[in-house]
Amino acid sequence: MSAPVIAQDVKGTITAGSKSPTAMPVVIAVPKEQTPGEQRVATVPEVVQKFTKSGYVVRIEHDAGTSAYYPDALYTAAGAKIVSSRTELLKGARIVLCVQPPTVAEVDQLDEGTIVIGFMNATHNLEAIARMRDRKVTAFALEFVPRISRAQSMDALSSQATAGGYVAAVLGADNCPKFLPMLTTAAGTIRPSTVLILGAGIAGLMAIATAKRLGALVEAYDVRRAAGEQVRSLGAKFIELEINAEGQGGYARELTPDEKIKEQQMVSAAVARADIVITTAAIPGRKAPVLITKETVATMRPGAVIIDMAAESGGNCELTQAGKTVRAHGVMIIGPQNLPARVPFHSSQMYAKNLQSFLTLLIDKNGALVTDFTDEILTASLLVHGGEVRHKPTRDLMNGVKP
Ligand code: NAD
Repeated sequence: MSAPVIAQDVKGTITAGSKSPTAMPVVIAVPKEQTPGEQRVATVPEVVQKFTKSGYVVRIEHDAGTSAYYPDALYTAAGAKIVSSRTELLKGARIVLCVQPPTVAEVDQLDEGTIVIGFMNATHNLEAIARMRDRKVTAFALEFVPRISRAQSMDALSSQATAGGYVAAVLGADNCPKFLPMLTTAAGTIRPSTVLILGAGIAGLMAIATAKRLGALVEAYDVRRAAGEQVRSLGAKFIELEINAEGQGGYARELTPDEKIKEQQMVSAAVARADIVITTAAIPGRKAPVLITKETVATMRPGAVIIDMAAESGGNCELTQAGKTVRAHGVMIIGPQNLPARVPFHSSQMYAKNLQSFLTLLIDKNGALVTDFTDEILTASLLVHGGEVRHKPTRDLMNGVKP
């Protein structure tokens, strides 16, 4: 990548270009995340080094990486400038990289034309999106990056789901009163624990792989039959049900009311014999399906643990409460929030690489910032630009149009 530059005319208007005599390098700013419990950071020193080698100026807010175990000194060594005030961080910055969406107060600190890239949590963040629109900020939402082969390296949903699936399996093991592997000891033989994964997408497959590595017997189920082959390739047993709900883009479709009842009945038997159940089932843009009713919880073994990764979107277990641990019938039901933030070192590293790949789309072959955003990936992920909300479902939501 050649040195990306922008030109600034006498009125201070910024335009893309690489040959202007007043050309200045693109400034990338990385704020410290403000959301409680968020330990991740949007870039890491290894990626900063690539940016600075390519001619960007990188500014990192003081302590932005500290909670992910990337101290300021490592960013400085990679060529970034550490700044202690937000004003200094954002002054003249063309690109702001973040993990969580900016708050309204943060948007108010951004200049017109600033490009913000990160998770935008669009449906739950309409006020900040409206403010970005009004301040003519440009926002790209990583959750809208299409899941096509070319976009795999910038698929932050997948990288963070991988981190989340790993943590869910470890959390399950940590709260389980049993060993996971089979043990043959002088004090007797220990039978392996059974781990059941409901929803074998990105997070579920990582949870399966992790539970297998810990030595458990692993079973899994998904409404997409195509998931069966991936489950079996990890050495787990795929529970075959008579439902196939492959929807658009590789995602699951919502089940019909009859299918939902059938699924709950068929899943119940597997839930009752499991020591740990990890649920990851989600339908994009909808409330998570209930797979485990309170009656099914009552049939589980005492000491069994449910890790409900869908807690934030309503929960796959009827008793789940997001951000809380509920105990019922001797079963522990954990509704964790932001699991990737519990492995902030590696989840930040993966996220930073996703952003690095994404930025290659925003720079043309001459090293200038792209302004037309015609690339399919940019078009799909462009949330706000030029004083308009460009993402139609979000715009409809803001205008009160029912989906
Ligand atoms: P997700 O987080 O939306 O859902 C998690 C899983 O829950 C999915 O596997 C889904 O089928 C399952 N599920 C939904 N309803 C269910 C129900 N009622 N019962 C049981 N399971 C249910 O999905 P995700 O993990 O982000 O991705 C799902 C799939 O998307 C992947 O497995 C893959 O096929 C596809 N994908 C493709 C690409 C790519 O091509 N670049 C990238 C990522 C994902």
